Amino acid sequence: MNYNISITKVEKSQVDDLDFNNIPLGTTFTDHMFICDYENGEWTNPRIEPLKPIPTHPAAMALHYGQAIFEGMKAYKDADGEPMLFRPAQNASRLNKSADRMGMPHVPEDLFVQGLKELVSLEHNWIPPQQGSALYLRPFMYADEPFIGMRAATHYKFIIMASPAGPFFSKRIKLWAEKQYIRAAHGGTGEAKAAGNYAAAIRPTELAKAKGYDQVLWLDAVEHKYIQEVGTMNIFFKINGEFITPELDGSVLHGITRASVIDMLRAMNYSVTERKITIDEIIEASKNGTLEEAFGTGTAVGIAYIQEIGLKGETIHVSDESPVGLEVNDTLNAIKTGQLEDRFGWMVKTRKQFA
Ligand SMILES: *Cc1c(COP(=O)(O)O)cnc(C)c1O
Repeated sequence: MNYNISITKVEKSQVDDLDFNNIPLGTTFTDHMFICDYENGEWTNPRIEPLKPIPTHPAAMALHYGQAIFEGMKAYKDADGEPMLFRPAQNASRLNKSADRMGMPHVPEDLFVQGLKELVSLEHNWIPPQQGSALYLRPFMYADEPFIGMRAATHYKFIIMASPAGPFFSKRIKLWAEKQYIRAAHGGTGEAKAAGNYAAAIRPTELAKAKGYDQVLWLDAVEHKYIQEVGTMNIFFKINGEFITPELDGSVLHGITRASVIDMLRAMNYSVTERKITIDEIIEASKNGTLEEAFGTGTAVGIAYIQEIGLKGETIHVSDESPVGLEVNDTLNAIKTGQLEDRFGWMVKTRKQFA
């Protein structure tokens, strides 16, 4: 279906004020946002308008009961300067899976993708040209109905914002394997990209940082030994020539980078197994010299190389080099910027119709 998205443009774009070689992280936004409202059981009034604060009723249900979910993705430019999206339909369907878990309505996938395309083509001047830079896109939905009481809201907003992001230099990271706090339990909300999951991770992450680590490595909620994932990344280990990543058991976020990296590794003739992995198995592999590398995968950073994992009374040295991780990262970036043939069929073009 083709939606009629009305467009109100800013009088003057702020893009000229941005130094593309020095983009402040997460604080710069493009001129416009896509926005639509859910009321009387349907999404209405899809529009692109100048990005601005939205008046919020103090009883807006998202503020009290936490019905708020989001997505994260990036737009790149190909060699001809054409804006491209990476697997946007995957984000659309994941948003709706998060919505199901949180008792929120679906956003039609074609509305999600059309909104993204129109916003990105309008804001194409904001896509940083530098290698490794991209326009970060943040689609999200929250309950804006004013109501005190415990039930699903009947009014929501779905918004897409865009924020230019400079190149991310992947330094080697250190993880803290957390045995006191948990991220997700079976039957919980671990599979949903729900705002509350991140609120609950803030304090444990601060404590890990105070110990000198970059991120938390989450373990299962019952035995504190099965590895789940990292802050906002899924995790891969290379042991004895084979890749292993935790299976999607209901408490792990279904990363789109994770799925893409599995496809890429298999195309490179590596064996990739999705299964349960314990922290003890990683300690053992490190001791007997079969732990070759480990990395995290996610939209924000691409691939983050893991150097070390700390846990109570022990430090696991992973590796100082991640040759396969590096190759996967370079290949993924080359596909996203159109420098390498998109043989997996992942990229979706967005015409510069407002040039
Ligand atoms: C978003 C996210 C990921 C990575 O998902 P991508 O689709 O690869 O960006 C992994 N874990 C968590 C908890 C996340 O929120």
